[in-house]
Amino acid sequence: MTVNRAATWLEILWRGLYPPRCALCGAPGTPEHDLCAPCRRDLPALGAACSRCARPLPIAGICGACQQQAPPQHYTFSPFRYAPPLDYLLLQLKFHGKLHLAPLLGQLTAEYLEQRVHPLPECIIPVPLHPTRLRERGFNQALELARPVAKQLKIPIHYKAVQRQRNTARQSELPRQERKRNLRGAFALNNTLTARHVAIMDDVLTTGHTVAELTKTLRRGGAQMVEVWTCARVLPL
Ligand SMILES: [Zn+2]
Ligand SMILES: [Zn+2]
Repeated sequence: MTVNRAATWLEILWRGLYPPRCALCGAPGTPEHDLCAPCRRDLPALGAACSRCARPLPIAGICGACQQQAPPQHYTFSPFRYAPPLDYLLLQLKFHGKLHLAPLLGQLTAEYLEQRVHPLPECIIPVPLHPTRLRERGFNQALELARPVAKQLKIPIHYKAVQRQRNTARQSELPRQERKRNLRGAFALNNTLTARHVAIMDDVLTTGHTVAELTKTLRRGGAQMVEVWTCARVLPL
């Protein structure tokens, strides 16, 4: 209780010294976000989507592809389409080390999840990077996004639950048909999974192969319900 109150006072003091600025245009932010109200409205909301894979649909439900062959995860939640101006923020975070954007993007994701995910999973497992990739980048964007989400939803992060045991080629550099094979056996559990309901966190859902492979690993380890949470979803071609 005391700790929470101290944190709140520190936040108030911090906000007084550094009032929020819009991460997109530099105008004063709103009290809730480091975004101005017009830029917040410009973010590309995903809208109605398939509950299993987050593919946009005219009305919420299960898409045709998932009805034919469902992905291993039970649910996928993504507040945004991967489109301007949100893609700019995600690229700045991931490839330009703008870590101060992670609280904003995580907070926007958490606000979306809060409205939709019931019951909440027991823990969040960010998609791990291979140690070599982690050394190159210096941080894992999935973990940085998971932190504010975990804080807002009050669930723990189990970052060490799983590791990337092969340094797979970048998915974007591979022909479409090789992407799935590239990830086979990419993940391994570090210890026994105690949670039965877990959420995988990543920044962007592209083909879905990475989260599908991680989901399979978690399900083999005893997870009974696996959700995928990402900030944005690339629209299928
Ligand atoms: Zn703005
Ligand atoms: Zn679907």
